[in-house]
Amino acid sequence: MTNYVDFYRRSIEEPNEFWAEQARLIDWQTPPTQVLDDSRPPFVRWFAGGRTNLCHNAIDRHLATRGDQTALIAVSTETCSERIYTFAQLHAEVQRMAAALLAIGVGKGDRVLIYMPMIAEAVITMLACARIGAIHCVVFGGFASGSLASRIEDATPKVIVSADAGSRGGKVLAYKPLLDEAIRLAAHKPGAVLLFDRGLAPMALVEGRDHLASVVLERHAGADVPCEWLDATDVSYTIYTSGTTGKPKGVQRDTGGYAVALAASMKHIFDGRPGETYFCTSDIGWVVGHCYIVYGPLIAGMASIVYEGLPTQGLDGQPNGAIWWELVEKYKVTVMFSAPTAVRVLKKQDPALLRKHDLSTLRALFLAGEPLDEPTASWISEGLGVPIIDNYWQTESGWPIITIANGVEKKASKFGSPGVPMYGFKVMIVHETTGEELTAPGEKGVVVIDGPTPPGFMQTVWGDDARYVSTYWQTVPGRSVYSTFDWGIRDADGYYYILGRTDDVINVAGHRLGTREIEESISGHAGVAEVAVVGVADGLKGQVAMAFAVPRNSAVLTEADQALVLEGEIMKRVADELGALARPARVRFVGVLPKTRSGKLLRRAIQAVCEGRDPGDLTTLDDPATLQQIRSVVGSASAN
Ligand code: ATP
Ligand code: MG
Repeated sequence: MTNYVDFYRRSIEEPNEFWAEQARLIDWQTPPTQVLDDSRPPFVRWFAGGRTNLCHNAIDRHLATRGDQTALIAVSTETCSERIYTFAQLHAEVQRMAAALLAIGVGKGDRVLIYMPMIAEAVITMLACARIGAIHCVVFGGFASGSLASRIEDATPKVIVSADAGSRGGKVLAYKPLLDEAIRLAAHKPGAVLLFDRGLAPMALVEGRDHLASVVLERHAGADVPCEWLDATDVSYTIYTSGTTGKPKGVQRDTGGYAVALAASMKHIFDGRPGETYFCTSDIGWVVGHCYIVYGPLIAGMASIVYEGLPTQGLDGQPNGAIWWELVEKYKVTVMFSAPTAVRVLKKQDPALLRKHDLSTLRALFLAGEPLDEPTASWISEGLGVPIIDNYWQTESGWPIITIANGVEKKASKFGSPGVPMYGFKVMIVHETTGEELTAPGEKGVVVIDGPTPPGFMQTVWGDDARYVSTYWQTVPGRSVYSTFDWGIRDADGYYYILGRTDDVINVAGHRLGTREIEESISGHAGVAEVAVVGVADGLKGQVAMAFAVPRNSAVLTEADQALVLEGEIMKRVADELGALARPARVRFVGVLPKTRSGKLLRRAIQAVCEGRDPGDLTTLDDPATLQQIRSVVGSASAN
């Protein structure tokens, strides 16, 4: 096994040689003539002159050696169904869908907007787009009409592919009315809409525009659609960021660089091997789903599980907090990928469920998307008995920026740290106002990336190069570096710690405090399941911290004396650990916290409610009732 320090150094010092080697992990129809072209920074062109195709690398390439091996396992605990596709079957399905798209006039470079639940057809549609060189724009299924409309306008799709409905915890969400309303609102109209009918909700078809996918697909059974060879730098897809901090941006990705980045990450980071099963619990609406439900595992010749449903419901539709572990046993999952938010849901259950099934095939659980607090990490790590690997990245980066390259060297993880910079990423900590690089261990600053950005990184903001440059590359004074907009520190061993978003800092009586640190301290209290801390304007101190906690014992929500005791303990804990300044002014208890659809805390909305302001754009808010809860506890606070 290689030493990671050398591996990393080579990626930075000899990027051409390093990435030329990684490029051999995929198939090229024409090999690249140039590896790195950074003649127009901050824009980077990887593997110019090369021609390849993502779908070819995900499917066709494996047909000769593993055509009969499982490629896709579509499991829904909502419709109580399981369906398995071998690589050969997936090949046939994808060609049929590709033929259908071609027949309705979709060509290379055209956008296809996908608004679908977590079903195999969604993955098949993405791969079909890749096959014919169409650009897919997946929008999280069930997003409200307004947010869908703005994405339709930005992407101007020729065709939209959707379904009658999604389902979550047994509650059917009809997509078609949302889609119809979104198309009505949007200035751009798609030429055609293809609809998969799952039989969950009625659909009224618009004459001339809407087509039932089953009818169209039947005409193309047995179709033979060759892969369209694309330039490495051709666009493969666009995807919008989660919208935690504001208006989502259309992140644009290339083809060749992305394929190489994913193939390399499957090997060097996830250590996933051909023939094994990968289980990523994310959604195709997020970047993690694009990379590690669809393309990454398939490119690596692994089977991938596509999962629709809650982590707490079984295949018989009954409550089952061990369903994910049941799937690990059943499909011999070796690598699993989830999010801290999902683990926190499981944490409310009996830990014995984690040991109910045979997990002997599982080698590691990767978690990403938000800070992984120590109590959550310890709970799941002890419960499962496998290494938990935190990985830090963004929609923009396309693959992990900071983690442990498990396939290169199984370096030890440190609690609270996602790890070290991944090969190709020149990560630095800089001073927020001077832009000066902070090299001393423990110095807190903004996490930035120096160019050239590695393969797989976003090419630009869709249709807006100027926005890409001004949003990401011109915010650090005196330097042209990419800002992640996250705070971080690096320790003496080179491990990084992410301390929260740059807009999640509060200023109490002239002292700057990260809300993440306060949250970490509070979540260490055994009585707290989850917590959000925001800074609220205060006439005296500038800002004060306000905490909203989900208690483990729900009696705290109704019994005022219990709430008071817990609040007092929490305040003491924070004061002891971080100092009196960090102590929240109040701790309020709620049943759930407001989150985005991808499970991230919407602190800006909580803060706005606390300050009596309009919470602004709430299209990414998962459940409006959660913000209502905040409103009511804030309201009762001021009444006291
Ligand atoms: P928007 O940019 O639209 O506000 P977003 O930043 O939530 O939305 P994503 O790209 O999905 O959209 O999320 C990336 C962000 O998530 C990171 O910048 C970081 O703040 C957070 N994050 C992701 N993984 C981790 C991790 N392992 N530890 C800490 N924070 C993480
Ligand atoms: Mg972001």
